[in-house]
Amino acid sequence: MDKEKLDILKRNFELRNMEVKCFEILEDVKSEILNIISLDSSIGIGHSATLQRMNITEELLGRGNIIFDMELAKDKEECKILKRKALLTDWYITGSNAISVDGRIINIDHSGNRVAAINYGPDKVIIVVGINKIVDTWQKGIERVKNKACPLNAKRAGFNPPCVALNKCVDCTSEERVCNSLSIIEGQAVKGRIKIFIVNDNVGF
Ligand code: SF4
Repeated sequence: MDKEKLDILKRNFELRNMEVKCFEILEDVKSEILNIISLDSSIGIGHSATLQRMNITEELLGRGNIIFDMELAKDKEECKILKRKALLTDWYITGSNAISVDGRIINIDHSGNRVAAINYGPDKVIIVVGINKIVDTWQKGIERVKNKACPLNAKRAGFNPPCVALNKCVDCTSEERVCNSLSIIEGQAVKGRIKIFIVNDNVGF
């Protein structure tokens, strides 16, 4: 992504009380996260292919942080408990389906736990995204999440709404619908609560 566009993106997020920091590789993002989060902090993890590639849960657990990550659940009931506990942590770390140059964060969610945590609950939120998640406007962001992220996420999670076969959204009412919550974050009341870490790589979907 060209520097001029990235500067515009940063400025637009700053105007909306959100911080943006850029990194070359995921390892650098991981080091930054381990650096800014204290050892006694509790952390909720939002389900994300990007975070899985970073192995961040294992790193944080290994050094003694309290982690609530639904991926660690043994069964559905534990998964539900972990998702709830992740809503009241010191930090929440997750990916995103799209961020826009005009300064918005766009996400879809199946059960809504991830968008709930990003919107309100954890004191601070870190969102890790690859440059492949950047779109020009929030409208393009919705297009991206519905037609690109949704089919891939549905497939990964073992659901089969129509977009999996069609590779585009048909606004289904399928029982397997995965995009039950659509969230557009346009700003923050608390300056710096949300930090967006952009990595110069194509990660997640
Ligand atoms: S509404 Fe249905 S078809 Fe459209 S993205 Fe969501 S799950 Fe896929």
